[in-house]
Amino acid sequence: GPAISLHGVTKTYRSGQETVPAVRGVDLDIGSGEFFSLLGPSGCGKTTTMRLIAGFEEPTTGSVSLAGTDVTGVPPNRRDVNMVFQSYALFPHMTIHDNVAFGLRRARTPAQEIQRRVAEALELVELGDRAKYRPNQLSGGQQQRVALARALVNRPSALLLDEPLGALDLKLRQTMQIELKRIQREVGITFVYVTHDQGEALTMSDRIAVMNHGTVEQLGTPAQIYEQPASRFVAGFIGTSNLITGTVTSGGDGARMELGSGQHVHLRTDREDGASIDVTVRPEKIHLSTSEPAPDHSRVRGRVTEVVYQGSATHYTVDTAAGSEIVMFQQNASGAGNLAERGDEVWLSWLPEHSF
Ligand code: ADP
Ligand code: MG
Repeated sequence: GPAISLHGVTKTYRSGQETVPAVRGVDLDIGSGEFFSLLGPSGCGKTTTMRLIAGFEEPTTGSVSLAGTDVTGVPPNRRDVNMVFQSYALFPHMTIHDNVAFGLRRARTPAQEIQRRVAEALELVELGDRAKYRPNQLSGGQQQRVALARALVNRPSALLLDEPLGALDLKLRQTMQIELKRIQREVGITFVYVTHDQGEALTMSDRIAVMNHGTVEQLGTPAQIYEQPASRFVAGFIGTSNLITGTVTSGGDGARMELGSGQHVHLRTDREDGASIDVTVRPEKIHLSTSEPAPDHSRVRGRVTEVVYQGSATHYTVDTAAGSEIVMFQQNASGAGNLAERGDEVWLSWLPEHSF
């Protein structure tokens, strides 16, 4: 069965006269050994969901189960999960060794066992040679790894990480993302990872729950969420997408959105003629050309307003005759020049199955 289950969980905070619905009817099953991410904008209820799993908060309604046992009402220290915070919360006056040993000492673990486990945990995060240092003698990334060692040392069956890399600069974040994946594979326990960074969630996760306003908007693998976003919100939040608006007109070959002068978007829709509708297309699915594309493609004319070289790709912004700006990416092969320059009149086209 699942390592962590939430059933119909809501959490409403009271602040003064106000009630704040932070989590609204969340159902989740997180598998044992899974790297599971909660992804969403600030204020969508990620931290609250984590605190409900850890036991720092109790649900207003619903229940939380760990390994099939209902733990609603069980205090945090009696739940088999640990939480790692963005602020590492290390004791500044203690050595790294003592920071990691702290919980084991409190649990009156035998000294030899403490020695062995602390050494093992520091080895795991590659800080075996820093045991005698103090936190302020380590870099930010190293301090985060100490926090991780401390959370792993009592061998919880799940680790909850709340934006753990938020305080690190981009380069270090990317190194730590790979590091965290390695550690999770090595210890084989469930990781629940909170982030507002879609790139981070896509890179690291087995599955992602995209949250918005206290609810889960979509649950799936990174590829499912990126390729088949379930809502406008998910499409807008994950990756870059273009939104094209128009009205449905059905033709001989199925529904279309007519944009005039041979421009049209093919649609899969059960909406009636004249209904106003929008479609989303990812930049990398769009083809840019100066010659007219085949009519069985969705196609829009426009003028290039921006060409931005970004190394591995070039980004084009096109002001379309359909009234919206569309962004597309060209992967750069060596020696290949630009597809178009600023001011050029171009066609954009894509396969009907690549819009949603
Ligand atoms: P996230 O981690 O996704 O940024 P949070 O779970 O921290 O979101 O917060 C969700 C909502 O609940 C926000 O509107 C926040 O202001 C509110 N909230 C969080 N904690 C409290 C609290 N202790 N008291 C009142 N409101 C809170
Ligand atoms: Mg938060």
